[in-house]
Amino acid sequence: MDLNEIVDIAVVGARNDLAQLGTSDAVIAGGTWLFSEPQPGIRRLFDITGLGWEPVTVETSGLELAATCTVERVSALSRELPPDWIAAPLLHQCCTALLASYKIWGSATVGGNLCLSFPAGAMISLATALDATVTIWRADGSDRSVAITEFVTGAATNVLETGDVVRSVFLPAAALRARTAFRKIALAPLGRSGAVLVGRLDLPTDGGAFALAVTGSTTRPLSLRFDTVPTPDALDAALDDIPDDVWHEDAHGAPDWRKAVSRVLAHEIRQELS
Ligand SMILES: Cc1cc2nc3c(=O)[nH]c(=O)nc-3n(C[C@H](O)[C@H](O)[C@H](O)COP(=O)(O)OP(=O)(O)OC[C@H]3O[C@@H](n4cnc5c(N)ncnc54)[C@H](O)[C@@H]3O)c2cc1C
Repeated sequence: MDLNEIVDIAVVGARNDLAQLGTSDAVIAGGTWLFSEPQPGIRRLFDITGLGWEPVTVETSGLELAATCTVERVSALSRELPPDWIAAPLLHQCCTALLASYKIWGSATVGGNLCLSFPAGAMISLATALDATVTIWRADGSDRSVAITEFVTGAATNVLETGDVVRSVFLPAAALRARTAFRKIALAPLGRSGAVLVGRLDLPTDGGAFALAVTGSTTRPLSLRFDTVPTPDALDAALDDIPDDVWHEDAHGAPDWRKAVSRVLAHEIRQELS
């Protein structure tokens, strides 16, 4: 849609340009959400794709995705990553949890998805499952790294302050070497995710721990941690510990439904990774 109140679009060429960001400005990356609804109060857009960040950097320590890396590129990585990173299919699986046309896939970015911080944020599911760290360029010129589970604080809320920009997300190699199991459910076959759960069983040489990412069904992403694959009772106890007000409510699912289906999916994942 046309955003009639926008008076300027600046293409950002250097980090210093971001110092101008104020409360009536917005960063634009893919623009798939920004142009999908009115943006009252926003006068200027700062296009960060002009910074020319390398979308993907593969290192022995892990995988760095620039904030401007597209969902389409993330999906393609499932076929390109080193063979010992057996979690690679998860990248594509999480992309499929984004309800979107191919046009959205081609433009939507990892950073835009994280910054919206919607419960149905598919890149949030991926990042939570693989213990990602988010690097933020802070308005004061410093950098800050936070775990994804700290970055998102609630439904559409996060730790970003005025002028902060997400630079990248880092997925550690140990998590990429792990076995994973993915489940998504929605009220309609092509509906927005009501729950996205991902289990991860680390290699014995990486500690052998089990982590369960609970996303989509909760207002913020959760990572339930166990030393090894939990017993059914231990898994139930961890799910019971999730406070009632953390189960999300919107048109895509009632909290009691999300809680119930998350439990079913969690047990399926536990069995698959046992
Ligand atoms: C048809 C349709 C279906 C969708 N389905 C889903 C879905 O299933 N799940 C979901 O979560 N979303 C969904 N969305 C919303 C959105 O398209 C995605 O979340 C997408 O990943 C946003 O990325 P973007 O690059 O287009 O963000 P933009 O629209 O460019 O920006 C989104 C927001 O993030 C801010 N921002 C972007 N990049 C940065 C950065 N690096 N640092 C700081 N702030 C930044 C912007 O200022 C803006 O507030 C959907 C949208 C449409 C139109």
